[in-house]
Amino acid sequence: SMKIIITGATGLLGRALYRQLREIYGEDVIGLGFSRANPPLVKLNLFEKEKLSAYISAEKPDCIIHCAAERRPDVSKAEPVLSERLNVQVTEQLAELSESLNSFMLYISTDYVFDGKNPPYSPDSTTNPLNFYGKTKLAGEIAVKNALKNFVILRVAILYGGEIFPTESSISSIADSLTKNKGGEFDDRAIRYPTHTNDVSRVISEIVKLKSSRPDFIGTYHWSGDEALTKFKMARIMASYLGIDPEKIKPLLTDSGSAKRPLNSHLDCTLLEKLFNLPRTSFTEGIRTTIKELF
Ligand code: NAP
Repeated sequence: SMKIIITGATGLLGRALYRQLREIYGEDVIGLGFSRANPPLVKLNLFEKEKLSAYISAEKPDCIIHCAAERRPDVSKAEPVLSERLNVQVTEQLAELSESLNSFMLYISTDYVFDGKNPPYSPDSTTNPLNFYGKTKLAGEIAVKNALKNFVILRVAILYGGEIFPTESSISSIADSLTKNKGGEFDDRAIRYPTHTNDVSRVISEIVKLKSSRPDFIGTYHWSGDEALTKFKMARIMASYLGIDPEKIKPLLTDSGSAKRPLNSHLDCTLLEKLFNLPRTSFTEGIRTTIKELF
């Protein structure tokens, strides 16, 4: 059997992942959450060091998939101490626990470890995060690498799919703003690669499966959608599903006052593409479902 602990199982990615892994591994999959955890998910504040150690040591998981993070760059900037605690210190503690239990750790990271000036980025490209959030996620990666050998770092791009409230993802937030304002101005400079949570969950399932035949499979890998879109272009696509006149959606070509973001941090995903047969949800299909479910 295969005991898997997922942190952040109440979050956007963690929920999709928990659902998929439960289908494969059943009750050996444990999902941890905090403020939103209801049974069968386990409520555990990752900031309570002793409780976390005691819990993980008692469960002795074969695999820890660490999804919990403060992932909003603006919140991260405004709450640096809390963000660093969650994104770096908690990651370090989980990595040390994994090492002491001989378990495998999969750490979810981000394309924001790159500065976006020289895409596409392969896993060994030079990192240079532009904002505090990216810096903490990179520090989390380093903590994982320093603590144990048996790890995979999976960097993913902007996530959407399976949102349970309108502003849960930065992509559903565009649709939310569109429904409220019947149009608006959206950034048309920064190129994003919308990545569906179901597709990322599939990638993680394949990695976990592969580990049983190839325990030496370790290292840093990339996964993202393959459609290059600005927020303006996404908004135009959403318009038809929201019954909004696309002409009411205008491109914005100036900086907003929020945390700095890379202009194009396209992740080169060839390593995993060659290894697995991984379908991608098209943006039109994925966003149509999100809009149908939310609005
Ligand atoms: P999310 O929806 O914001 O979820 C965050 C999770 O962290 C929640 O399950 C939350 O639990 C948990 N959490 C927060 N503080 C906690 C604490 N003190 N103790 C225990 N759990 C705590 O995040 P996400 O969007 O799914 O992101 C998943 C991963 O993908 C993150 O590592 C993120 O850096 C990475 N990523 C995300 C994006 C994106 O666009 N979202 C893009 C690239 C990479 P409760 O809600 O129950 O409190």
